[in-house]
Amino acid sequence: MDYDNFFAGRVDALKAEGRYRVFADLERKAGDFPSAKSHQGTGVKDITVWCSNDYLGMGQNPLVTAAMHRALDESGAGAGGTRNISGTNHYHVLLEQELASLHKKEAGLIFTSGYVANHTTLGTLGSMLPDGVIVSDSNNHNSMIAGIRHSQAEKKIFKHNDMADLEAKLNDISPGRPIVIAFESVYSMDGDIAPIKDILDLADKYNALTFIDEVHAVGLYGAEGAGVAERDGLMDRIDIIQGTLAKGFGVVGGYIAGSASLCDFIRSYGDGFIFSSSMPPPVAAGALESVRYVREHSELRDHHQERAATLKRRLTEGGIPVMPSVTHIVPVLVGDPVLCKQASDDLLYNHGIYVQPINYPTVPRGTERLRFTPTPQHDDLLMDQLVDAMKSVWHQLGLKEAA
Ligand SMILES: *Cc1c(COP(=O)(O)O)cnc(C)c1O
Repeated sequence: MDYDNFFAGRVDALKAEGRYRVFADLERKAGDFPSAKSHQGTGVKDITVWCSNDYLGMGQNPLVTAAMHRALDESGAGAGGTRNISGTNHYHVLLEQELASLHKKEAGLIFTSGYVANHTTLGTLGSMLPDGVIVSDSNNHNSMIAGIRHSQAEKKIFKHNDMADLEAKLNDISPGRPIVIAFESVYSMDGDIAPIKDILDLADKYNALTFIDEVHAVGLYGAEGAGVAERDGLMDRIDIIQGTLAKGFGVVGGYIAGSASLCDFIRSYGDGFIFSSSMPPPVAAGALESVRYVREHSELRDHHQERAATLKRRLTEGGIPVMPSVTHIVPVLVGDPVLCKQASDDLLYNHGIYVQPINYPTVPRGTERLRFTPTPQHDDLLMDQLVDAMKSVWHQLGLKEAA
């Protein structure tokens, strides 16, 4: 086989479909978020980032960066091993305690990423629970799907947020078998929210364990930023809460929070936890500072919600087809992969606005979109620039306006 020819051919197939990914080469500017430098060929241009998952700008918070500098100077760059082999630093322990306290659970367990947290936790539960079944929402993130597949447990997929279908799937399972229901709170491509209470009621009825991915909600919802389950007063009814330290908290890493026995079990059996070096101490220190800060600053959350509502209203008033979203995520429908990429390119190269195109397989074909994530740092002036640029691009490309 001509391997390189094969690789290039598969990539060409993506290009033909208009869904070849080109990364924007950005240089973030601490102190000036959401501005960044964009490296384009030989030139460099100042742009505004409109699609960051650093939802609160915590990646440049001076207390967070100071904590990271301090830990770097005190403890050095790397952790020095896996958690079991000299890689447990005191910051890891403090961070796990903080996350347990945030979610009002007995224990927390950190991983190198949210992806690994999902993959390892669901993978371990699925492979260890005797004759277990994992029941999974059809829109769940790739990290959950991959973990479930890796576990080789039986899996049942229920229609997205469809409680009748979830109950039908639960009803199909012979009584007595262990069940895990895996779902997200905020689904990040549409900006919709799971009917968490209804899922928990069904879990009670069928004696199932519940696993919620709050990656797009931690830091952002609830009195202390513990997520939608906190906002809705449901945290204590959920067995496993999973989150990331990379989005609302602005650093990197992932975690679960749950009972002491559950966390000890995953700590002791989870491959992705055991066999990978732990996060660097400066990262753990930065994440710890960020979680503490975000818990205490609910005005950040209020401002974040206000910015999202304002952007939705302003784009809609400008005739731009904002898709329905009950969260901070502002998706705009384009409905064609080539035009979606074109709109994104025009915004970047002609208007200094960066929002990446979202195409299949991340979203269904025909629903290709631009996904805006306004932060508290996107002020009215930046919004004026964005709305004007969007109107101009919509007109130029002849894109569909809001109905
Ligand atoms: C980003 C994401 C993850 C992975 O989290 P990382 O910390 O970025 O690895 C997990 N679940 C969902 C829903 C995500 O969007």
